[in-house]
Amino acid sequence: MVDLKRQYEKIQEEIDSAVLDVVRSTQYINGPDVKHFQEELEDYLDVRHVIPCANGTDALQVAMMSLDLKPGDEIITTSFTFVATVEVISLLGLTPVLVDVDEDTFNINPMEICNAITVRTKAIVPVHLFGQCARMDEIMTIARNHGLYVIEDAAQAIGAEFIYSKSRRKKAGTIGHIGCTSFFPSKNLGCYGDGGAIFTNNKKLAEKIRSIVNHGMSIRYYHNDVGVNSRLDTIQAAILRIKLKYLDQYNESRRKAADYYDKAFEGNENIVIPARSSFSTHVFHQYTLKTRNIDRDKLLKHLA
Ligand SMILES: *Cc1c(COP(=O)(O)O)cnc(C)c1O
Repeated sequence: MVDLKRQYEKIQEEIDSAVLDVVRSTQYINGPDVKHFQEELEDYLDVRHVIPCANGTDALQVAMMSLDLKPGDEIITTSFTFVATVEVISLLGLTPVLVDVDEDTFNINPMEICNAITVRTKAIVPVHLFGQCARMDEIMTIARNHGLYVIEDAAQAIGAEFIYSKSRRKKAGTIGHIGCTSFFPSKNLGCYGDGGAIFTNNKKLAEKIRSIVNHGMSIRYYHNDVGVNSRLDTIQAAILRIKLKYLDQYNESRRKAADYYDKAFEGNENIVIPARSSFSTHVFHQYTLKTRNIDRDKLLKHLA
């Protein structure tokens, strides 16, 4: 799907020297690149606070830990996502409530969210699946009306934009109360190992999240919360600083590839090409086809 070797070869000199700089600095944990990457990502996303962490699953877990939820509280999320989204809800003793998706985009359906709300509902977790934003305007309205938190799982959609109108757009992960992403190597912004980040515009939540990823500690050796140890390695941050500069270019290349595939499959009755929402740009983390009246596995083999 993603040719990481070719991608590396194009930026090899920059990467090699950045990695070597970290090795020589011996500042492997929370070195200066982590802070710089955080600031550069805040600028890119136009969000007040980015908190780097160890992976996308931790990002989701820490986001949920920051909301002071109680066992049995219900979290509404999509029935069609990578397991991590739901896994962390269960891990924290919360109750996942899975609702169905829009048939065309595979993203969570707002009507289904409304139907699933109970007195125990505390949060909604939309996933911007395959690289395209869920219906965030409707989801935020529902959340406001019912006093719910919204945590966006933007692991597949970094750089995608929700379009309110031509002049007003917001990046995936910066619309809800908290956004989460993953820097797994094959993600649109991938590092050379595990990595993740949490975004928020809320200062209180940012402080709490920063404490939780650091053993519940805000002042050195004063542990006010039960936290975890979830950090982005300095080496990964150094790599991400370089790759962030190329993210828009990478996403544009994915869109071009998607256009090419669209053309190739256009007019084939047995294949449904991916829907493109009017309210979101698409960064094509995945290019996902639907099939009609044919053997999917045979097509898979043929295309491979
Ligand atoms: C990749 C992914 C995650 C988890 O990220 P990791 O960094 O692998 O822990 C969570 N949610 C979705 C939708 C993903 O695609």
